[in-house]
Amino acid sequence: MSKTYNFCAGPAALPEPVMLRAQQELLDWNGLGVSVMEISHRSKDYQELANKAEKDLRNLLDIGDEFAVLFLQGGASLQFASIPMSLLHSGREAEYVENGVWSKKAAEEAARFGKVNMINAVNIDENGIRSLTDSQSWNRTENPAYTHFTSNETIEGMRFSQVPQTNGPLIADMSSCILSERLDMKAFDLIYAGAQKNIGPAGMTIVIVKRELFEQMKFDGLPKVFNYEAQAKNGSMLNTPPTFAWYLASLVFDWLQEQGGVMRMEELAKQKSQLVYDCIDEDDFFTNPIAVKDRSMMNIPFFLKNESLSEKFLIQAQEAKLMGLKGHRSLGGMRVSLYNSVPLEGAQALVKFMREFKTLNG
Ligand SMILES: *Cc1c(COP(=O)(O)O)cnc(C)c1O
Repeated sequence: MSKTYNFCAGPAALPEPVMLRAQQELLDWNGLGVSVMEISHRSKDYQELANKAEKDLRNLLDIGDEFAVLFLQGGASLQFASIPMSLLHSGREAEYVENGVWSKKAAEEAARFGKVNMINAVNIDENGIRSLTDSQSWNRTENPAYTHFTSNETIEGMRFSQVPQTNGPLIADMSSCILSERLDMKAFDLIYAGAQKNIGPAGMTIVIVKRELFEQMKFDGLPKVFNYEAQAKNGSMLNTPPTFAWYLASLVFDWLQEQGGVMRMEELAKQKSQLVYDCIDEDDFFTNPIAVKDRSMMNIPFFLKNESLSEKFLIQAQEAKLMGLKGHRSLGGMRVSLYNSVPLEGAQALVKFMREFKTLNG
């Protein structure tokens, strides 16, 4: 049986060794004779797992003690609300850098709670090629409550290769790129990411927040679970955390460290995405509408010049065990997601298939 490669945008592929280990430990975890799903989050065994996962994540991303690391529920979308609910007060304005569907959703949610300056950061040229504009040209807020941006726009396939400058706290949605490239944590005040793309299964959200930022947050009138400071003080266990997702994330962190950490993932991300972009760019059979400098290493939307072939492409790809390539419903076409769990061989198999398809249909 040949291997299936999974290019789903999210929930996405998980590393095979992680899945095998989870399978092996499913009914008897840590020698307890029961599953990790079936034990108290306050038990000694689970606490050790939780602490180790946090330590490993800190190690992988070089996160210092000035940050709290939280393992929460509610998805990235809850953070869209929770951030402005605690930080956007006293008549201040927040900056939202907009370059795609997710950054727009984050801004729209924030606007329900306070004043928002939506900054359109995309230029579309006469050929329909989209690029990020220079932050010098943005209409900035003088003293923002914070600046929010989306490091990697999952649907459009657009990436900030440089962190935007700001004179307020900087907040990043890294749902689809966390752990795929090294970060300079000094630049950030809060980073959040839904787990289901590059961390583990759906149901958990990681928040990395500078403790100093707590001083600017207001939690009165909010549900207690939205209180970042209380979550930090209670080890993300104000209530029952998503224990199984946290466990699987811990296996992913182990696997990442064995693979050579984030530096290795970054090298692989460059390699895998370059293979696909090279294939797209070699002629006009396939197209990708993002300027080279702003292209994502994780999510690559692409289109057939002859759109009527898209259906056939997707059916034949599925038959070749290349799954999850259907484009987002808002864009159509195709999209390949190359998260950490997708091996280099997956990208190679896809590119081979794309070239064969082109030869037969070009
Ligand atoms: C998937 C995604 C989201 C939405 O995540 P949920 O956990 O479903 O709320 C938000 N932002 C980005 C960049 C994403 O890729």
